[in-house]
Amino acid sequence: MNDLLVAPTRVWTPSRVLVTRSAADLPHTAEIIRRCEAAGVSDIDILSGDRLTGLRGESERQTYAMAKETLAVVVAPPSARKPQPIPPSADWRIDLAKGCPAHCQYCYLAGSLSGPPVTRVYANLDEVLDGIRTHAGRGTITSGTDERGHEGTTFELSCYTDPLGIEHVTGSLAEAVARVGSGDYGDGVSLRFTTKFDDVDELLTIDHGRRTRVRLSVNAEDVANRFEGGTARMPARVQALCRLALAGYRVGLTIAPVMPIPGWREQYGQMLADVRDAVSDVPDLDLTVEIITHRFTESSKDVLLSWYPATKLEMDEDARTAKRNKFGGVKYVYPRDTMAEMKSWFTDELDRVLPDAQLLYWT
Ligand code: SF4
Repeated sequence: MNDLLVAPTRVWTPSRVLVTRSAADLPHTAEIIRRCEAAGVSDIDILSGDRLTGLRGESERQTYAMAKETLAVVVAPPSARKPQPIPPSADWRIDLAKGCPAHCQYCYLAGSLSGPPVTRVYANLDEVLDGIRTHAGRGTITSGTDERGHEGTTFELSCYTDPLGIEHVTGSLAEAVARVGSGDYGDGVSLRFTTKFDDVDELLTIDHGRRTRVRLSVNAEDVANRFEGGTARMPARVQALCRLALAGYRVGLTIAPVMPIPGWREQYGQMLADVRDAVSDVPDLDLTVEIITHRFTESSKDVLLSWYPATKLEMDEDARTAKRNKFGGVKYVYPRDTMAEMKSWFTDELDRVLPDAQLLYWT
């Protein structure tokens, strides 16, 4: 694939950076500040305490806009550093940050973030990554399975953020990939993360040891263009996938959230064909696929409607099937027939277009 075909996406640069007192003297904070200054951020405040204040504007709209322009550098408390199992993606979840500057109208974080959606990056990176050392060899989700046991203990980095979307002002991702790549935590661990961004230049130069799988979050053009504000456009993501694969990374597609929009077969079919064309010449390609259909909860819908009151995203409980989880929570998924039809189509199309790709799960 020709690198010059797709223009790079403008990287996110916060308007202001807030550094809490406890985070101020940590070594990774110095790196974050260095990166922010290099990116042209002049409004960097060292706070006198650990509480983030002044996050609210005069309206919901203004609060949202200010939050999405703010990077907070904070210390992850022990509760946030404790790795948690994260089925079906990985044995454990490790969070480098919480929050994301993009504007996806279905954002997965809507149900799990409280307060204004500020991006909080963790300054105590050594302690955060120490979860890899303490939990290596203790996985129960992908470890020991026929399909994925060879990946070693797996650690997912993108549950609460898009780590590549904030990377040029944080550097946390490169550090994690380099440490795992150089064997700091042994041979039996691997990282994975998913992203809608394309700024992969720095990752290409890292000695990653093929121990990180980068998945590009991809979708039908209409979904990406209409609902995924502030992210890289689809051709740029496909190009990023190709460049990472050529640099030896294991790669993947996170096809999510799948929506049965008009013409969905043609649009998802075109997306898969674009990926096939992009990676056709990659030697030793290791490509996986994860497919997640769109779903929402009462609380995520409320938050999303407060962030995006004019959204055209379908979140109609009457058009969905309510699915109860073991904790009593309800999520709204597509009806059984729609799910079956999409699953069958995706399975057949993947077999046809990307026969060597491994489908990890459909949900
Ligand atoms: S890229 Fe992911 S985390 Fe960021 S706004 Fe979009 S859905 Fe949310």
